[in-house]
Amino acid sequence: MIYLDNNATTQIDEKVLEEMLPFLKSEYANPSSMYDFARKPAAAIKDARVKVRDFLGAKNEKEIFFTSCGSESANMAIRGVLDCNKEKRHIITTKVEHPCVLNTYKYFEKNGYEVDYIGVNSQGELNTEELKSKLRKDTALVSVMYANNETGVIHPVEEIADYVKSKSPDTRVFVDGVQAGGKIPINVKETQIDLLSVSGHKFHAPKGIGALYVKPDVRITSLISGGHQERGLRAGTENVPYIVGIGKAAELAQEALKYEATEVKRLRDKLEAGILKNVFNARLNTSITNRVPNTTNIGFEYVEGELILLHLSDLGICASSGSACTSGSLEPSHVLRAMGIPFTALHGSIRFSLSRFNTEKDIDCVIEKMPIIMDKLTKISPFQAELAALKDRT
Ligand code: PLP
Repeated sequence: MIYLDNNATTQIDEKVLEEMLPFLKSEYANPSSMYDFARKPAAAIKDARVKVRDFLGAKNEKEIFFTSCGSESANMAIRGVLDCNKEKRHIITTKVEHPCVLNTYKYFEKNGYEVDYIGVNSQGELNTEELKSKLRKDTALVSVMYANNETGVIHPVEEIADYVKSKSPDTRVFVDGVQAGGKIPINVKETQIDLLSVSGHKFHAPKGIGALYVKPDVRITSLISGGHQERGLRAGTENVPYIVGIGKAAELAQEALKYEATEVKRLRDKLEAGILKNVFNARLNTSITNRVPNTTNIGFEYVEGELILLHLSDLGICASSGSACTSGSLEPSHVLRAMGIPFTALHGSIRFSLSRFNTEKDIDCVIEKMPIIMDKLTKISPFQAELAALKDRT
């Protein structure tokens, strides 16, 4: 199997699993208990919080809250902030956010909030001037993802946060950092970002664990009320093994950042160049350099993305035709639509997302197989005249 769908989820690093196992077996005490047996799990949570603090470049581990996933972290940030600032009823976000953010704002829109959705250009870059022009006195929240899950495009979140705070210090800035965590360095203490979410399963921890960074002076309410856990902001007995897992994964991801920026990027660039060279109907959906190093999104004109995925799957190659949540529906991706990707390539767009576990052999194999698949699929495409014209041009 060749796994190139790491923006959907990643394999658990063996070292992460090793670190988790004692807490799934013998070290099962409730970390809040008073006896000695609870000391190890309590200490392990503390240690994991420090590791995630360092991973996100936060000042203090008290700024880190553990959740169950990226979606919960985003909901906790958005709902928590809005609940504490009820007099402000305006929100600014982007058209290319993940559904866990977009659908939360749809809910608030239905409940009397005004939401401005900022667009992107044909390369997926955010129109920051438009965003700045929308800021108002009653803007409660500005919410921009760090890196897009489908294209990998990195948004200028630090610049946006600086601008927002210079004009409206009370407006909160939330960054969905799920696709940035483990791919590029994050250093929240050097920024004006108020809240930032990450998800363990995107950087080789298991599914079911996330984290939210909250700046010390930012007030939020909790989504889950109950006990005192997570400083009263997220009740429920702590998921110790998974918290240990995200801590170890954060530590390993931090160490691997240089490898991501060099080797993973080299393999991604090789894959991109190889496909563009060998497949006449391939076009890069974004070529900007300011992308996370592991992601490429390629449109194959006049063929169906689902058919490409099925043929890849037959060869043991895993990729995606949209975000993990939207693939499975035949609706073209809202991100690629926002970029104005031509209809001819929109339906045949494939995202390949690598990880540090991919090899040169993986990439060589996909470069070799892609023209063979495309040869089959272009032959059965109903757009023969268009494909012939395209071939003539290339
Ligand atoms: N935000 C982005 C940008 C994502 O890509 C994803 C998952 O694909 C999420 C949030 C949701 O994360 P989780 O699956 O952990 O809820």
